[in-house]
Amino acid sequence: MREQYDVLVVGAGYAGAVAARALAEKGKKVLVLERRSHVAGNAYDCLDKAGVLIHQYGPHIFHTNNKKVFDWLSRFTKWRDYQHRVVADIPDGQGGRLRYPVPFNLTSLECSYGGYEGRHLGEKLMETYGAEKKVTILELRQNPDPEISDLADYVYEHVFVHYTMKQWGQTPEEIDPNTTARVPVFLSRDDRYFQDTYQGMPLEGYTPMFEKMLDHPGIKVELGTDALKRLKLSGEQILVDGEAFEGPVIYTGQADELFGFRFGPLPYRTLDFDFETLEQDDFQGYGTVNYTVDEPYTRITEFKHLTGQDLPGVTTIVREYSKAYSGAPGETPYYAIINPENNARYAKYQKEAGKFGNLYLLGRLAEYKYYNMDAIAARALELADSID
Ligand code: FAD
Ligand code: UDP
Repeated sequence: MREQYDVLVVGAGYAGAVAARALAEKGKKVLVLERRSHVAGNAYDCLDKAGVLIHQYGPHIFHTNNKKVFDWLSRFTKWRDYQHRVVADIPDGQGGRLRYPVPFNLTSLECSYGGYEGRHLGEKLMETYGAEKKVTILELRQNPDPEISDLADYVYEHVFVHYTMKQWGQTPEEIDPNTTARVPVFLSRDDRYFQDTYQGMPLEGYTPMFEKMLDHPGIKVELGTDALKRLKLSGEQILVDGEAFEGPVIYTGQADELFGFRFGPLPYRTLDFDFETLEQDDFQGYGTVNYTVDEPYTRITEFKHLTGQDLPGVTTIVREYSKAYSGAPGETPYYAIINPENNARYAKYQKEAGKFGNLYLLGRLAEYKYYNMDAIAARALELADSID
C-alpha cells in the first residue's frame, strides 16, 4: 500500500470520486475504497427489474450556479435539460385533493385563496418584500400585519409543519433554520423547485458519470471494501493494512464511526424507500409530489419524469418515509441533524481528526453537513487543489 499509492480515498460518492479524479490528474496514484458494491454514493442510479432507471437512494436532481463545477462534471457526462417542478398534494377540505406548486408561490396563493383574494395577497406581499423575492416561512411568520400573518399561518400549516414533522420529527422552529430556508415562499410565477443557472440530469445517469470520472490510470477503486477494516488510527499515525501511511487520507464516511463513536453517535435521519412499479405510462404527472399535510410518507417521486426515459406502459415510483437513524445494520444515515448540541459533538470528532496531519474529513457524512451535490463537488475540487 505504502509503495503503491500516494493518496487513500474512503468512499466513492461525490466527495471521494471528485477528489480522487482531481488528484489523479495532478499525477497522484489514488486508491479508493468503497464499502458498497457500487460507485456514486447516494447519487447511485440503476435500472430496476422493469427496466426503469431509478435512483436507489432517493431522487437526485443536479442544480448549480457554479460554472466551474458544472463544466468540470460535464467532462464526464452530457446533460438532459430538466427543470424540477414539485407540487404539494393536500386535502381540499371537501373530500377531494388540491395540488399547487412548492415552493409556495403566487400561483399557489391563487389556488389556495381563489383568484381575487390570492392576487390581493400576492400584491401585498410584493409591496412588502419585493417581486421575485424569496421569503423564508420563519421570516414570514414574524410579519405582524394581520393578513400576512394569517397567510403565513396557512402556509406553515399546509406546506411546512406536517412535512417537517414527518421528515425530522421536529417542528420548523426546532430544526436548523437553513433547512426550511431551502424551500422559501417565492413571490413569483416561476414554479420550478430550483432557480439555478445549470440544472439537469446526467444524460445516461449518475452512475455512468461516476464510472467515467473514476476511469483514470491513476485511480484504483476497490468496491465492497470497508476501509475501517484496513485503516487504523494509532497515536498520530494512520496505518493502512498495518503499515504507516504518510500520504493524504480523504475520508468521506461518518466521522463518529471513524473514531469508534468515542464521543457518542452523531444523530441522523434515515429513510425507508418504498419502490413500486406500475403498469401505466404515467402515475402522477410530476417528478415529485410532496404530501405536506397527510399520509405517512413525505413525497412520491416518479423517475421517468426526471430521467425522460421513454418506456411506455410501465413506470416506477418511490415513497419516502423518514425516521430516526438507529445505526442498525442495513440502515443508511442520510441527513445530519444540525443543531448546537450535535455540532458540538461533531467538533470533538473534528478535533480528533485534526491530530492527524494527513487526514481530511470531506462530505455530507464526514463533515456532518447538508451538502448538495454541487457544493460537495466544489469542496472536493478545492481540497484536491490544496493538496500538493
Ligand atoms: P455519499 O454519497 O454518502 O458518499 C459517501 C460514500 O462513502 C458512500 O458510498 C459510502 O458507502 C462510503 N463509505 C462510508 N464509510 C465507508 C467506509 N468505512 N469504507 C468505505 N466506504 C465508505 N443533492 C442535490 O444536489 N440534489 C438533489 O436532488 C439531492 N437529493 C437528495 C435526496 C436524498 C434522499 C438525499 C439523502 C440526498 C440528496 N442530495 C441531493 C444530496 C446528495 O446525496 C449529496 O450531496 C451527496 O451524495 C454527497 O456526497 P458524499 O460523497 O459526501 O456522500
Ligand atoms: N419542506 C417542507 N415542505 C415541503 C418541502 C420542504 O416543510 O413541501 C421543508 C422540510 O423541513 C424539508 C426542508 O424544507 O426537510 C428542505 O426541503 P428539501 O426539498 O430541500 O429537502 P431534501 O430534498 O434535501 O430532502
